[in-house]
Amino acid sequence: MSNKNPSSDLRDRTIAELASLLHAREISAREVTETYLAEISTRDETLGCYLTQTRERALAQADAADARLSAGTDLTPLTGIPIALKDIYLTEGVRTTCASRILEDYIATYDGTAVAKLRAAGTVLLGKLNMDEFAMGSSNEHSAFGPVRNPWNTDYVPGGSSGGSAAAVAAGLAAGTFGTDTGGSIRQPAAHCGVVGIKPTYGRVSRFGVIAFASSLDQVGPLARTVRDAALLLEAVAGHDPHDATSIPAPVPCYADALTGDVNGRIIGLPREYFGEGIDAEVVVAVKKAAAHLEGMGAKIEEISLPHTRYAVPCYYIIAPAEASSNLARYDGIRYGLRVNTGGDLDELYEATRTQGFGPEVRLRIIVGTFVLSSGYYDAYYRKAQQVRTLIKEDFTKAFERCDAILGPVTPTPPFKLNEKIDDPIAMYMSDVLTIPTSLAGLPGMSLPCGISKAGLPIGLQLIGKPLEEATILNIAHAYEQSTEWHRKVPVR
Ligand code: GLN
Repeated sequence: MSNKNPSSDLRDRTIAELASLLHAREISAREVTETYLAEISTRDETLGCYLTQTRERALAQADAADARLSAGTDLTPLTGIPIALKDIYLTEGVRTTCASRILEDYIATYDGTAVAKLRAAGTVLLGKLNMDEFAMGSSNEHSAFGPVRNPWNTDYVPGGSSGGSAAAVAAGLAAGTFGTDTGGSIRQPAAHCGVVGIKPTYGRVSRFGVIAFASSLDQVGPLARTVRDAALLLEAVAGHDPHDATSIPAPVPCYADALTGDVNGRIIGLPREYFGEGIDAEVVVAVKKAAAHLEGMGAKIEEISLPHTRYAVPCYYIIAPAEASSNLARYDGIRYGLRVNTGGDLDELYEATRTQGFGPEVRLRIIVGTFVLSSGYYDAYYRKAQQVRTLIKEDFTKAFERCDAILGPVTPTPPFKLNEKIDDPIAMYMSDVLTIPTSLAGLPGMSLPCGISKAGLPIGLQLIGKPLEEATILNIAHAYEQSTEWHRKVPVR
């Protein structure tokens, strides 16, 4: 492979392509890093993806990667690859805000496990990415530091809460990124920005050093331009970690090896409920076309039912705020971040700090969460929601007796406009109606591009797998991707 004028088109290279050019020493990690840094300088003011840029550190890491590449030692497929992280990952020495005023100047004292693994793999950190405050939102409009804009059309939202992570990949402001997904925050923005995103099985990747939102749901995962790139990034962070009690002690397969392109005989279920009322016709058409395409490649498509789907959103909006109200109790003005001292007693300090430090959506969730956990309401709301969660899980267990993977839309509509849903929390919450069930069931789910709407914005396809069967959905996704053109479509710069 040769590349005469690398800086002009390095932004369009996949991680896998960059890796082979880097390993062959046809390009340097410094060149790649400088290309991305230049692109961030030119374009990020409009898009708003980065909350913090780590330019000097990136160049130093690039030089270290070049030294490794020249010596040919300790090489991984990610050596010298410029990535960026949602600003929810603790990074030693680099500020981590969670897009909140309460952590505006917070600098962590250690790297989380995923971050440490990525550093050890030789990646280059470009910076920390914008998101909805504490990962609560579906449009990135709940960031305390301003919204992210969709690179396909800046009047539209990129999705959320990992909006910066998705937009940065789509716009070519990082080769790959990491987000987190509690109810859809990797898959939904990936769909809205036309990139690939995977939320692994609950427990597949350590959350140690990732700021907690709803601990029974939160998962770490990558966003990238292609399925292969997502597989490489996932493999780098997956695996058991004694620092996270929920992490699963199962070996990590080589995900890239699973990408055979062969889907012959695979049984793929289409849940009736994912194509019904409330799902935009353009989305239904694009996703059904994708199913037909896979059928043409030898997969068997079967209609299935996930009958409790419509209870997933109300169930999630009890469980997630309940857990958030507990997790966010630690931001009290004493131990972390902002402190607003009004000169009164301790209660006044708590109140002033939390009122000024948290944005309206976060405060709303803390109030809801505290309410559903309070004595007298616990049984009616929280316990009931846990029971409904079990029913939702059982829907999937039954469906997987008949099929190897489930296919459906990621979102009920193509991307919406900025300000369109900001004053209507319920409308915003419904953006995740098709991603939340997977989260409640702890299953792996991914999003990949499968169409462009009439308005010129991306439409995503969701694949859901059995527990720990990321390899199965990655293989189906890769087979589809490689035999269609959607992954080659990028927003105009
Ligand atoms: N949009 C959902 C919410 O607001 C999911 C967020 C997430 O997955 N972090 O809670």
